[in-house]
Amino acid sequence: MAYDTSNIFAKILRGEIPNKTVYEDDGILAFHDIAPKTPVHVLVIPKADYVDLDDFTANASAVEIGEFFAKAGQIARDLGLPESGYRLVSNNGENAGQIVPHFHIHLMGGQKIKEGSMARGMQS
Ligand code: 5GP
Repeated sequence: MAYDTSNIFAKILRGEIPNKTVYEDDGILAFHDIAPKTPVHVLVIPKADYVDLDDFTANASAVEIGEFFAKAGQIARDLGLPESGYRLVSNNGENAGQIVPHFHIHLMGGQKIKEGSMARGMQS
């Protein structure tokens, strides 16, 4: 699947749509989800154009992949998530519930998460 430069996260990265930034550097952006499903619900995205987790893990370098997840872990620690537990979700493809075709992970925490709950449609 070719990368669609008109997706919402591409617009956020170009500064065309505002976001509540949690962390930003040359390689990644982390920002609050516009419709949080848990008290803390942050999205972490690489700045490079990857459609989904499959595209990212198939085509990004090992260094890029490693740095992305290391930074995601640091962001979770900075948000205080490990103390109370948190869930990392990445929906890969439409059938899995992916709406925005720019690779992203959800960091979700701040409450007890029900067994089997996903990044969308989560009951509190
Ligand atoms: P997906 O279902 O693709 O894994 O998750 C996409 C997420 O992006 C959803 O949780 C949705 O609430 C969030 N989202 C969609 N549009 C925007 C937006 O314009 N700004 C922000 N901050 N989040 C968005």
